[in-house]
Amino acid sequence: MARPVQIDAFDRDILAFELFGGDRDQGVEIFQNKMVVTRAPHRCVICLGPVEPGSRVRAQTEHSPALGCVRTFYVCAECCEACRLATVDPNDAGRAIEARTAIGADRARAA
Ligand SMILES: [Zn+2]
Repeated sequence: MARPVQIDAFDRDILAFELFGGDRDQGVEIFQNKMVVTRAPHRCVICLGPVEPGSRVRAQTEHSPALGCVRTFYVCAECCEACRLATVDPNDAGRAIEARTAIGADRARAA
């Protein structure tokens, strides 16, 4: 079944959001940044919440020379929406993504 064209614009706006801002190791190389349907459970890199199998989410795969490894970061559906708002909505001004990041910080402290 073909997806509506509008969804592709949503995807583009989600994927355009820079996941880690300027807070990166030198020389990190992004191999892949796309929407996927997950087969295994994952943890969202922003809010640290669960990404259930069968979820349609953003997945970014990259190589870090500093860590010497390839990692894939998943972004849950709610954080994808926050990424989209940060890209397209000047009124949001990154507030949605800040709120999701704060949830992640709370979860990290509670862990
Ligand atoms: Zn999330």
